[in-house]
Amino acid sequence: MLFSEVIGQDPVKEKLIASYKDGRVSHAQLFFGPKGAGMWPLANAFAQYLTCENPTLIDSCGTCLSCKKNMKMVHPDVHYVFPVMTSKKFKTPKSFDYIAEWRRTTLANPYLDYNDWVEVIAETETKQATIMTEEVADILHKINLKAFEALYKVIVMWLPERMNASVGNKLLKSFEEPPDKTIFLLASEQRDQLLQTIISRTQMVKLSRLKDSEIVDALIRKDISAEKAKEIARFADGDFHQALELALQEPGEGSHEQDFVNWMRLCFKPEKSMSNLVTWVDTMSSLSRDQQKSFLFSNIQVVRECLMMNMASTEMVKLDHQQKEKLKLFLPFVNKNNVDSFVAELNKAHYHVERNANAKILFLDLSLKISRILQIK
Ligand SMILES: [Zn+2]
Repeated sequence: MLFSEVIGQDPVKEKLIASYKDGRVSHAQLFFGPKGAGMWPLANAFAQYLTCENPTLIDSCGTCLSCKKNMKMVHPDVHYVFPVMTSKKFKTPKSFDYIAEWRRTTLANPYLDYNDWVEVIAETETKQATIMTEEVADILHKINLKAFEALYKVIVMWLPERMNASVGNKLLKSFEEPPDKTIFLLASEQRDQLLQTIISRTQMVKLSRLKDSEIVDALIRKDISAEKAKEIARFADGDFHQALELALQEPGEGSHEQDFVNWMRLCFKPEKSMSNLVTWVDTMSSLSRDQQKSFLFSNIQVVRECLMMNMASTEMVKLDHQQKEKLKLFLPFVNKNNVDSFVAELNKAHYHVERNANAKILFLDLSLKISRILQIK
C-alpha cells in the first residue's frame, strides 16, 4: 500500500523515507505502538517503497509494476510471515500455506487484529495462532535467494510476539547479519511480549496513538457522516481497528436493542431483580473488552434514537419497525432531562473498560447509576 493510505504517523513516514534516501535503511526494524495505530499498514507501505521503481520524496509511485504487485501482495521479493495454526489440511503449517486467506483478509482491512485473523483460519475456537518452527526454514530459504526484481528483499512479519522462543532464537542471527539487501520489518502490537533478544537486535520504529481528528478524517473518507465519525473517534481511543468495528455497527445491529431493553428492565427496579442483575453483570464481565465497549457504544446510539422517537422526529430515526417495537415500553424513560447523564455514564463506563477497570464492579455500579437516571422525569 501507499504511505498516503496509512492514517497519520507523518513523522515516522518522513524518517523511513529519509533513511532510504540516505542509504541507511536498518536491516531489522521493529514497528510498534498502541493497538490499532497501524504498525502492519505502515510496514507494508515501507516494503512497497523499498521495492518501488520510482519512489518520490513522499511516497512510492503507485504505478510501476513493482507497486502494482505490492498492492496485490504478490511481489516476488516481498515475503509475509504471520501467525498460523495447525488444521486438518496443514499439520505443520507455515505462513505461505495461508497466503491466499492472508491476502484477502489484510487487503480488505490492513488494520485487522489478531482475533480477526483467528476467526478467518480457526476450525475451533480454542486454538492459538503462532509463528511456528516450520517457518524458520522457509524464511532462511527466502532470504538466501537472490532478489528477483527489486533492489531489496523484504520480510514483513506480523505479530512477532506470537513467535515462540525457539523460532526467535533461530532467527536472531538473520536479524543481526542478514544476507545483503535483506530487510526485516516486524509489526508488533505488544512489544512487551517480545523476546528481549529480538528487541535488542532490531531498530525501533515507534508509532504514536492516532489522533481523534485523524480517525475522523479516515472514517469520513469511508463515507461515514462527520457526526458519527466524531462519536466513533471518541470511543475508539486512537485505535483504528476499534473505530472500524464501531463504524460497521448500525444502531440496533446484532439485536443490541433487545439486550438493552433487558438490561433496562433489570435497572428499573434493581432491588427487585438483584439476583438477575448480578447474573447479567457476570455475563457482561465474561465478554472481551472490545465486546463490552461495543455494547456500551451501541447503547449510546439506542438512547439517542429513543430520545428522537420521543421528540417525534421519527423521520430521523434509523431503527426499523421491529426495533422500534422492542423499544416502545422503554421510551417513556428517556427524556431530554436525563439523556445527557445517561450518555455521560455510558461514556464514562467505556473510558474505564478501556483502562482495564474491574468489569463486575463497573457494570454493577453503572446499572445502579442508570437505575437512578431512569427515575428522572
Ligand atoms: Zn512504484
